Amino acid sequence: MNEKLIILWSFVKTRWFSFFWNKKNLRKRQRRLFTKQVSLIKRISPFYMKNSDLPIIDKSILMEQFNDINTVNIDKSQAMEFALASECTRNFNNKMEGITIGLSSGTSGHRGLFLVSDKERAFWAGTVLAKTLPKRHLFGVKIAFFMRADSALYETVNSRLVKFQFFDMQNDMEKNIRDLSVFAPTILVAPPSCLLCIAHANSTLRIHPKKIISIAEVLEHSDAETIKSAFGVHVVHQIYQCTEGFLGATCEYGILHINEDIVQMEKEMLDETRFVPIITDLKRCAQPIVRYRLNDVLIEKKERCKCGSPFLALEKIEGRCDDVFEFEGEKGTVSVFPDFIRRCLLFVDDVGEYRIQQRSTSEIAVLADDLSEEVKERIYNEFKKVSINFKFFMPHIVFLPYDYDLSRKLKRVERLC
Ligand SMILES: [Zn+2]
Repeated sequence: MNEKLIILWSFVKTRWFSFFWNKKNLRKRQRRLFTKQVSLIKRISPFYMKNSDLPIIDKSILMEQFNDINTVNIDKSQAMEFALASECTRNFNNKMEGITIGLSSGTSGHRGLFLVSDKERAFWAGTVLAKTLPKRHLFGVKIAFFMRADSALYETVNSRLVKFQFFDMQNDMEKNIRDLSVFAPTILVAPPSCLLCIAHANSTLRIHPKKIISIAEVLEHSDAETIKSAFGVHVVHQIYQCTEGFLGATCEYGILHINEDIVQMEKEMLDETRFVPIITDLKRCAQPIVRYRLNDVLIEKKERCKCGSPFLALEKIEGRCDDVFEFEGEKGTVSVFPDFIRRCLLFVDDVGEYRIQQRSTSEIAVLADDLSEEVKERIYNEFKKVSINFKFFMPHIVFLPYDYDLSRKLKRVERLC
């Protein structure tokens, strides 16, 4: 099947066929696809020929065993060289032996390499479009997409139906914003940090996207509110997408649902509602993703979503596992989830843009502008309450001016030690 047909086929299938599913037949379908996918992978992936018990893997194992896991015979060092060269020249349209190679962000020692075949790419494009395009008025959709790195992946969706323009976040933001004004998108897709930047410029810019989609970074509730009021929209949509796959999208009520039609998710529970996801991509073969532990903490929504979807609904993506703060307590190390740290500032008025960083077990830095002594004291008291609740020794808090570099991912809550 050629690529355009695959896009159309997966679009139609995702958009209209999933309406007929309920929890029971969704599980049945998942089991069938899982069995089929695993039996295929055990035949074609050298790693899974040897490890037929399907061990849980993570990014470091996926990278260590790269040559054995992938089924398209691509060598890791060559792929890395290829991906780095694409990044240097910022030409992301080349393919290596018909396979698109993606490089996931992260510190240089932890960069991940991801492989996608043309067929998988087309399937991905159809699914993303089906889950994100408006329900009506399909013609004349114009999507503006802000990213730190382009990938041939996104070019796939350009067609007569959908106009698509990529904005490189490494370019001058003022120029990007001028170009955005000319393009006048109906859908704006960008990381929240970039959406905020555009929101602040919107009084002069005057674009009126009908739909705003947040990607790549955790969308904080307060940032979503700012973005909503700047663009006059009711919902800031989210796509939960990473190099490991297209994992979820929001419904019309703004609730994030996991794409259980293409991904099977096991949960490693941390408490009653928080969990670390272990995913199996039910479609990808070039680089199989089987029982892959993500570095994310998700919070499950307890009640059923009003939209009626049988797909797992999330309260929110809380953050990366790496950003769970760790303090010393009388009985040893105490872990505190980002949500509790974030709330220390949310309960205090008069705080604009902020970042909270843990710099050591005994020091936290709060980066924000124009904090009065009174506000600083209120923040200190909020942290004090958390330290009493969780029984850890109160760390020292330093207050610094807000700073943030748009070329990096924005994390409001971040552990640096
Ligand atoms: Zn829903």
